[in-house]
Amino acid sequence: MSIEKFSVEKVLSVHRWAHNLFSFTLTRPAHFKFSAGQFARIGLMVNGELVVRAYSVVSSPFDETLEFFSIVVPDGAFTSNLQHLKVGDELYLDKVSYGYLTLARYQLPVPQDLWLLATGTGLAPFLSMLQDFETWKKYQHINLVYSVRTASELAYVERIQEITALFGEGHTGFKFVPIITRDPNATLHDRLPILIANRELEKTIGLSLNPASSHVMLCGNPQMVEDTKEALKQRGLTMNRRGEGNIAVENYW
Ligand code: NAP
Repeated sequence: MSIEKFSVEKVLSVHRWAHNLFSFTLTRPAHFKFSAGQFARIGLMVNGELVVRAYSVVSSPFDETLEFFSIVVPDGAFTSNLQHLKVGDELYLDKVSYGYLTLARYQLPVPQDLWLLATGTGLAPFLSMLQDFETWKKYQHINLVYSVRTASELAYVERIQEITALFGEGHTGFKFVPIITRDPNATLHDRLPILIANRELEKTIGLSLNPASSHVMLCGNPQMVEDTKEALKQRGLTMNRRGEGNIAVENYW
């Protein structure tokens, strides 16, 4: 891997959500441009080798710093080193951003209802989109659905409230719906494809998935993405290709 493709950036903050979840911010070089929903490639020197992983940007494209949300993969070459990150440490950042999970990809149907469905750290690109006033202007309804295993893994809840209060001020169509799959007492605790098939998600939100008006974005566990895609297709929704269709996806690992 050519190191010239990377700039060296400083860690400005680290926030730990749970033993296996943390966020960090980096300095943002002037050349690093991205759209909400895109990912960066971050590199770490491990035993003299540059190891690189993809990370969706949590920050808005207008922010001066870059925030990322990470899980610690047990025995993972990258995150088991990254978890010891401290303020002042240096990381490598690919000069270019990547990915097609952006709202600009949608032409038809015209924007009306936005469904952002995430598991775990797949929440990241949606936080970026929600920090863009354009998103709130474009959509009448915005549903952020966030599935985690336990309540302790439910990161960013206060930030979501702050973001929606600031960026969504005066917008009346926003719903935040947490799903806690390993807590039978949680209001919603089934996996996303089940909640779509039995229409419980729509009942909770008070809005139907509709091929004529829904933009549905999926991000997170690759099996969730696959299974949820199928459940949505059963409901008549289609993959977004060349601008047309309802579903856009990003696998997380
Ligand atoms: P996860 O297993 O992805 O679970 C997060 C949420 O997704 C839970 O609510 C889970 O429900 C749900 N889920 C899992 N499979 C699903 C499916 N097929 N359909 C619908 N929902 C589904 O948990 P995680 O903590 O985010 O990640 C777990 C492991 O994934 C990590 O320990 C790591 O090994 C790997 N991972 C790797 C990377 C990487 O960059 N290499 C990144 C993230 C995660 P249930 O409780 O029912 O399972």
